[in-house]
Amino acid sequence: MPVEVVTVPCRSDNYAFLVHNTESDETALIDAPEAAPIGAALKARGWKLNDVLITHHHGDHVEGLGPLREAYAPRVIGCGADAGRLPALDLSVADGDEITVAGQKTIVHDVSGHTINHIAFHMPDCAHVFTADSLMALGCGRVFEGTFEQMWDSLSKLAALPPETVVCSGHEYTQTNARFALTIEPDNPDLISRAAAVQAATAAGTPTVPSTLSDELATNPFLRAGEPSLKAALGMENATNAQVFAEIRRRKDAF
Ligand code: ZN
Ligand code: FE
Repeated sequence: MPVEVVTVPCRSDNYAFLVHNTESDETALIDAPEAAPIGAALKARGWKLNDVLITHHHGDHVEGLGPLREAYAPRVIGCGADAGRLPALDLSVADGDEITVAGQKTIVHDVSGHTINHIAFHMPDCAHVFTADSLMALGCGRVFEGTFEQMWDSLSKLAALPPETVVCSGHEYTQTNARFALTIEPDNPDLISRAAAVQAATAAGTPTVPSTLSDELATNPFLRAGEPSLKAALGMENATNAQVFAEIRRRKDAF
């Protein structure tokens, strides 16, 4: 089914995404950081809002839901195990569930770490994954609630999706992430060229999100914790991948 995916900048550095099915005229929203820009994006295209998919409970991903709910009465979908911290859900989902939104097959993945019960939504037929604050462009979310091991497992699941998958993440943090990534892999040629592209896009005010999983696999230090060259650069040849991930995440927290 043909879909159009629209990135909607919200607040100071959040992104929401609209997935519109051009045949059925249905639209799904991933995360609701702020109602006004999302409402404006829908109005500009004459779209209604059928479904809202919530990735996790943080305010900057849900606080815009109220007015959208009033205006469009969408079906609100989120992690049932986190229902106590989420806005009222019309459909509760769990890891491995397969649902249909905007006519698209959508698979739910538990990607806990940033929060417990953070979920990602993978639409395999249009090759998009909505990762919010789990996998980010050249980075990953801070590990607030889970363990480093858990976050590494979550990122590993996302890393196993088809490399052509488009990664729609929740924030414009890419320029800082690029500066940090270069401290881990200063000689990675793919990273050097991506960092330059990110710098240019940021200077021009152009979003650097979404990205592709293949670019993340080549340049995102958090996905590359298992690379022998990266382990060697950190002097951690004998450490587990999760231990290397934890070291990179700790360095980023102090960056
Ligand atoms: Zn968050
Ligand atoms: Fe966030």
